[in-house]
Amino acid sequence: RSVQLSLEHLTQGLCQAASVNEQMLKVVESFQLSESEKKVRSLLVELLQEVFTEFFPECCILPFGSSVNTFDIHSCDLDLLLDLENTKTFQAQNKGSSEQAGEGQSEDARSEDSILSDIDLSTASPAEVLELVAAVLRKCVPGVHKVQVLGTARLPVVKFSHRELGLQGDITINNKLAVRNTRFLQLCSGLDARLRPLVYSIRYWAKQKQLAGNPFGGGPLLNNYALTLLVIFFLQNQDPPILLSVNQLKELACEEEECVIEGWDCTFPSQPIAVPPSKNTEDLCALLAGFFSFYAQFDFSGSVISLREGKSLPITGFLSKEAEEGEGTDEQTGDSRPKSVKLGPVNVLDPFELCHNVAGNLNERTQKAFRRECEEAAKYCRSLQYQRKSAKGKVWGLVRLFASRSAGAQGSGREAERELSICIPFKAARLPDTVCSQLHSAGGLFREPWFEKVCCAVVAVLKDVLKCSVAPSDGSEVRDRQEEVICVAVKDTATSAHMDATAGDVTLTDCIGPASKNGQRVQETNNNFKPEICTSSPTKEYNPEDTAHTRVKRPSSTGNGSQESPASKKQRLDSGSKHPTAQWHCLLWHKVWAGRRKVRRDLLKSLQGDSMPEGGSVELETQVTERIAQEHPGGEKLLEFTLEAEVLGVTENTRTVLKLTPGEDHLGLFQDFFHFLESFLPKMTEKLLEKLG
Ligand code: ATP
Ligand code: MG
Repeated sequence: RSVQLSLEHLTQGLCQAASVNEQMLKVVESFQLSESEKKVRSLLVELLQEVFTEFFPECCILPFGSSVNTFDIHSCDLDLLLDLENTKTFQAQNKGSSEQAGEGQSEDARSEDSILSDIDLSTASPAEVLELVAAVLRKCVPGVHKVQVLGTARLPVVKFSHRELGLQGDITINNKLAVRNTRFLQLCSGLDARLRPLVYSIRYWAKQKQLAGNPFGGGPLLNNYALTLLVIFFLQNQDPPILLSVNQLKELACEEEECVIEGWDCTFPSQPIAVPPSKNTEDLCALLAGFFSFYAQFDFSGSVISLREGKSLPITGFLSKEAEEGEGTDEQTGDSRPKSVKLGPVNVLDPFELCHNVAGNLNERTQKAFRRECEEAAKYCRSLQYQRKSAKGKVWGLVRLFASRSAGAQGSGREAERELSICIPFKAARLPDTVCSQLHSAGGLFREPWFEKVCCAVVAVLKDVLKCSVAPSDGSEVRDRQEEVICVAVKDTATSAHMDATAGDVTLTDCIGPASKNGQRVQETNNNFKPEICTSSPTKEYNPEDTAHTRVKRPSSTGNGSQESPASKKQRLDSGSKHPTAQWHCLLWHKVWAGRRKVRRDLLKSLQGDSMPEGGSVELETQVTERIAQEHPGGEKLLEFTLEAEVLGVTENTRTVLKLTPGEDHLGLFQDFFHFLESFLPKMTEKLLEKLG
């Protein structure tokens, strides 16, 4: 949550920046660990070093991963390697000497007896060692909790949290390659200052597009390490190159820098100074756009990305080379692990552990989504909105790039994954008699009266109680929220008759009224928003003159020549479906959930004795929203979303299912809003129906 809040802040900062280059530097500034956060981490490492030395003499705690690889962000975990090499030697020596001297053990060895005598490090399994590590963490490190051993993971690990520091940590053993590849990333950052802003921006973009970041570990998303390698590979492939291949870097290393870990050559210079700077002068803005075009066109399924060689290798050649080399024992090191790579839809070879595809967890779908998002981003980067700061204070540059869902993702089936549903069970709520009679005299349009009522109430809750803008989901734009008119259009698909209306007040009667006739669709040239409810019930034509008391903001023109929108066409085509559906496009203007409880409490207090304003909780909640809006006036829309209502189930099971799908959500607020709506919307809808019924 704190990250989300800072993102909101970030968005404002980004819009104020003068250029995309500046925006990218701001992204780094906003996300990276502060000096004090870094200090806290290093103090924790010192503490752990002290404690573990008590139990594992001469051990060494080495931080690696994002807290030290120069791609740190506020919430990143603390990855630690517990290096027990020296402890092993210590134990072996002590064993030898204590055997020789019988009882006469050294001081050190006796004090460590409790743990070190429990285990023989030369033969113990990683899981056994990690159990001891976990015991030490639990019992001897103040503030540590939620200690958990994942002994059977590919890389066994102990996970822990630190309560006061709000940190999560991982301790592994036997993970020297990760410490070395962390050094490699540090070197790359030192070689070219453009890498960090690119990686931060791309990591955030990928997270927003749900392409990267695995909150639960595993899963078919890109991990941060793999994504960083993709950025480095892109920079290796610029003309002239911005970063050298790992093989080229190796050539620049001196003898003392030679390094082989588990049989893999991990040699590269320890200091950037050993490497001549790049002659490439491209700026960040162009490079970011270049990244997206590069991967939008990349032949993922036909190639293997090799940072070692700094180029992509055709998969066929790679496979035959692999087959030639086969599996076997590395003659130099005696390492007999299989050397074949797990190839998949995306192949990014680790620069050191050459049999490891760091993107091996990705599936076809993630690969396609990555490409598609790259295409979308590349397209956007060609627009002026990306390159130029908006003179009218609109979002521009990175901000729109960071919107959580691109238009290109629509129709891909991904909405289905992201949409969230709220159920409103059937209750025999009734419309006021006057409204019912109007509806029925309007030609029996309401074959599903309960559904229509729920839809009207939902729209009224969103619009009047929560001050959202609500529009038909057929692409008509919300232009001026002050002038908006909420309409409920009831379309009879048999005759294409429309009944459009406004909902200026909460009163449901005002929600319903005529705006078009004779089956002509009203052209949406003004600010009329006409959510549509489609039913498949054949009825006679609706005559707007029949409805007397409605307050209708009539459109200025009735669109004789107007085209049927794709959405309404789809609805017409879908009209064979038994279930009535309705769709709205909505805009949220205020964070109506933030501090709501407190505002409500304060409001009730200020009402002095009258526990509820007239109109009950609907009125109270409306006032609560108004207060929130007053306290945080804003002016920019916060979030776009689509709301779709559908009747599901039969008889006692009947319910209206409201599906919410996020549209533009550059502040990442959709989840929070949804969680709020999940309880609020059904409750309020119910109240409104009761109130009106
Ligand atoms: P963050 O924790 O912010 O997601 P990170 O880089 O620390 O980023 P972790 O998943 O915590 O990512 O991994 C820690 C480190 O372990 C990485 O920085 C990298 O050095 C190494 N690592 C992670 N995944 C792989 C992998 N698939 N192959 C090789 N090394 C990896
Ligand atoms: Mg990490």
